[in-house]
Order: sequence, then structure tokens, then C-alpha cells
Amino acid sequence: MSEILRMTPGPTYVTERVRKAMAMPILNPDMEEAFFEKYKSTQKLFQKIYKTEEEVLILSGEGILGLEAACASLIEPGDKVLCIDNGIFGHGFMDFVKLYGGEVTVFESPYDEALDADRLAEFLKKNHDFKLATLVHCETPAGITNPVDRICPLLKSYGILSIVDSVSAMVGEPMEMDAWKMDVVLGASQKCISAPPGLTLVGISADAKKAMKERKTPVAGFYLNLMIFEGWYEKKWFPYSQPVSDIFALEEALKVILEEEDIEKRHRVLAEATRKAVTGAGLSLYAKSGHASTVSTIVLPEGISFSMLKDEMLEKHGILIGGAFDYLGNQVFRIGHMGENAREEKLYRTLKALHHSFTALGMKLKESMHERFVKEMEGII
Ligand SMILES: *Cc1c(COP(=O)(O)O)cnc(C)c1O
Repeated sequence: MSEILRMTPGPTYVTERVRKAMAMPILNPDMEEAFFEKYKSTQKLFQKIYKTEEEVLILSGEGILGLEAACASLIEPGDKVLCIDNGIFGHGFMDFVKLYGGEVTVFESPYDEALDADRLAEFLKKNHDFKLATLVHCETPAGITNPVDRICPLLKSYGILSIVDSVSAMVGEPMEMDAWKMDVVLGASQKCISAPPGLTLVGISADAKKAMKERKTPVAGFYLNLMIFEGWYEKKWFPYSQPVSDIFALEEALKVILEEEDIEKRHRVLAEATRKAVTGAGLSLYAKSGHASTVSTIVLPEGISFSMLKDEMLEKHGILIGGAFDYLGNQVFRIGHMGENAREEKLYRTLKALHHSFTALGMKLKESMHERFVKEMEGII
């Protein structure tokens, strides 16, 4: 069988062009000027992607490192933190906040809808004594994108700093760090950026840097302290040896992204056509609103378990689809249409295979998923 098509919501496909960048000769990251310039130029590409003038750090470690490092660097014992929770990742932020001594207040919102910014605005009118808030841009398990463009300016109007997990959103969804007044913006290499897993990206605003500098207690961790990079370029010094090859690949992946005219539109159009194909066939989406452009979460029909569907898809069609964990385990399946996986031919193959798999598992579909997808893409309907 030809190579497996992996349509999970990350890690995504890494093109040969990006993989080749990893094979370049290694530079000494602590001694060679060329590497300092490489890190700097990669940061500059990120500033374009983040739409920011602020610094974007590239850290060696998977996306979770950024979530923890942001909490460790900003939170001091006793700090009041608002955790905005409308999904598994939003809920999970609380663990990091508590680990570093933050006093948590939760703003809960239904897990199958985009966060209601008006309701948050009402809540903040009465409760706004927080140093910072944590929130998630795209809740990957549920396939929901939250209105960060409204939430972050709202928080800022009360002087509340924001830590935003945009790991599965950035590049695939609109995201403007400066215009939206975001403070710490987290990303990772393996989602829409389509570089190998292993790097965390952290955009840090001037307000967030100020809060880190004004801490009264030291950060409880060296690796997690975002301030240890302070002045690296002027000093030509990194706190530890940098992942040279990963950064070469990342730079190439960013160039690919910036060469494309409208990458957000590609994601939006493919996501919309995928949703139409799936619902047209009689399946239902988990989310009631805020459908993400980067991932679709689809309810498993009665009598079909995730493992039945996954095995059928993988063994007969060579396609890997995503499942889910926590309360969504064995309730839904997911198609990641982010980065290099957001390609028409890949989604066509996936939907065609899904159509045949559901049919083989005894389900009667209302219409052909892949034919509907094609029609949607051609704009016939
Ligand atoms: C993928 C992802 C992360 C990174 O964590 P994993 O170890 O890949 O699970 C963090 N936040 C969100 C919202 C993600 O989708």
C-alpha cells in the first residue's frame, strides 16, 4: 500500500521541501553568527504570521511547554487568575495555573459552543480583579474556534493579561496579536505550520514582559522561565543549545506559508465544504457554533465505535483519522484539515474513504460525501 494519509489534527504532513531543510549542515548555535541571524530571521517571519511587532520566542519542546512556561513565568503564588473554560484544553490550563500558585476563578461556558463574549463582558463588569486570564483559541477536541478578537481586547480593558493557546488555530484561522491586544500567544510547529513536532512558539507583549520583570518571587523553573532569553541577540548568547535542524525546518515552513496568497481562506473554504459533505450524508457535527476551520469533530453514529471506523479507514483505505479523549472518547471522530492536510485532494480521498467505510459498517448515508464535497468546492450548490 502507498504511504498512509494522516488526517489527524496534528502532527500534520511535512513536505519534502521542509524535510530537506532539516538535512542542512548543523551550525554551532552558541558560536556562529550565522545561527544567531537564522534565529532572528525566523523570528521576523513569525512576526508577520502573528501580526505583531513584539518578540516571538522559539523554544525547544512540544506545544505544552509553551502553556506551562507562560504560566510559570507570569504567575506568582496568590495571583488571581481567570480560567476561561469551554473545552478540554481550556479546562486543562487550570492545572498549570494551580501548579504555580495561582488562585483560580473559572468562567465556564458550554463545551459545544463558541464562547459567548457578551456573557463574558457581563461577568467582567462585576468581577475583574484578575492579574491574568487563560483561554484557548481553537478547542481542538471539539472543533470550536473562540472569538479571541473580542475576548482579548475586553480583558485588556480591565488591565487583565491574556495567555492564549492558539496552537491549533494560528495560520489556519485569522489571528492578530497586536490588534487584538493579546499578551502571550502560544503556537506549536506541528499543527497548521506543518513542520515536525518539537517546537513551541511564544509571542510575548511588552505588558507581559513588564509583568515578568516586576515579579517579586523567582520563577520556579529555569527551562520554563521566558525571561532567560532576554537580550540573547545583543549578547550573542542562548541559555542552552538551540535545536538547529528543527529551526531550519521551521523557517522553511514559514516561508511556504508566507508565499501563499490567502492561507486562511483555503482553510475556511475546505472546512466549510467538509462540513457540508458530512452533514449532507446524515452525520452531525459535535459543535453547535464556532466551527473551526482547522478541524472537524463529527459525532459517531449509533452502533459504530471509533475503533471500528478507524480500523476500516486505515486497513482498507490507508487513511488515519483522529479520535478524541476525555468525555469525547468514543463519542466522536475528527478530521484535521490544517496546514498541509488542508488540501482538496486529501479531503476528497478522506471523505470518499469515509463514505465507503460507513457503508461497509452498515450505515445508510443520505448522499455521497465525496461527490457533495466536489460540488461544494465547485460552488455548484
Ligand atoms: C495540539 C495542541 C496542543 C499541544 O499539545 P499536544 O501535546 O499535541 O496535545 C496544545 N493546545 C491545543 C489547543 C492543541 O490542539
